[in-house]
Amino acid sequence: MSEYSIDLELKDFGKVPIFLPDATRGAIKSITTRDIFDVGTKALVTNTLHLTVSPGSEKIKELGGIKKFMNWDGIVLTDSGGFQVFSLLHSKQWEGKVHDGGATFKSPKDGKVIELTPESSIDIQMNIGSDIMVVLDDCRKSSVGRKDAEISVARTLEWAQRCRDYFDREYGGTKETGKILTAVVQGANFLDLREHCAKALAEIGFDGYNFGGYLLDDDGNLVVDELACVLENTPDDKFNYAMGLGKPSDIIKAIEIGYTVFDTVLVTRNARHGSVYSFDIEGPEYKMNIKNAKYANDQSPIDSTCDCQACKYHTRAYIHQMIKVGEITGMTLASIHNLRFYNRLVEGKR
Ligand SMILES: [Zn+2]
Repeated sequence: MSEYSIDLELKDFGKVPIFLPDATRGAIKSITTRDIFDVGTKALVTNTLHLTVSPGSEKIKELGGIKKFMNWDGIVLTDSGGFQVFSLLHSKQWEGKVHDGGATFKSPKDGKVIELTPESSIDIQMNIGSDIMVVLDDCRKSSVGRKDAEISVARTLEWAQRCRDYFDREYGGTKETGKILTAVVQGANFLDLREHCAKALAEIGFDGYNFGGYLLDDDGNLVVDELACVLENTPDDKFNYAMGLGKPSDIIKAIEIGYTVFDTVLVTRNARHGSVYSFDIEGPEYKMNIKNAKYANDQSPIDSTCDCQACKYHTRAYIHQMIKVGEITGMTLASIHNLRFYNRLVEGKR
């Protein structure tokens, strides 16, 4: 029995800081659903685009929805699929185009044409069976010019309204489904556009407001002013989600601004490459490379204050050696530990 329980109700989601691991395709590489639970996770993110490409959202629905499929009792948040599609289409890795109605592209798996529109994005997320859905938005690069940022905001607002209308009309909204709908605030680094977008979305009315676009500027610094602007112009009683924010120091800063919902693929990707986090290491990033030769004989746990499986039962020396030789167990232990670290980080247990 785990000492944790998933005692979080949707109505209380985001009232205090929470970290959501990315179970992109319904899993986190090298660890199990049980492991995700055992590190104290209450909610996770799955990736709409990846699940649409394989096995397909209808297949997930047939199997009882993502929660039954992966046997996860906690909350699930799905993105709209837009961020991945637009970054892939803009980088020309995929065939397809972005247009006023959404995006059209070919599945890299079987060549099937997929239409991602505000309405189909809601259908797909309903099929997947998440609790928290995100509306389709027009995401651009951080360095976007004024004109493109204006187009992005106009489309984002139009699509948000269409998602809101469609969810309420076709599915009966939150009242009938018990699910909640969140919006994405765009506007790149133009504060007036951010303010306009946030206010207009608040006018439509959503259960959460996510910071869209890029959270770091070209020098890698957190866009503090933009984050604060979005927070100030969205309702106080709804949560603000800093989508994809990665570094511990940035998450701490965003919590200070007032953001409460976080996810990042970095936490487990770094773990697999030997980057682990420890409150035994001086901040602000608490990061150590466990592959470093100095840990080869280190009999202490990764983090002496951590209660995870990796820290309770294994030494730095063991995890060092397992990762060094490419043993999956090393990646598993490092991933479990890093997830526990991020949960403790956002809970302020440092
Ligand atoms: Zn640990």
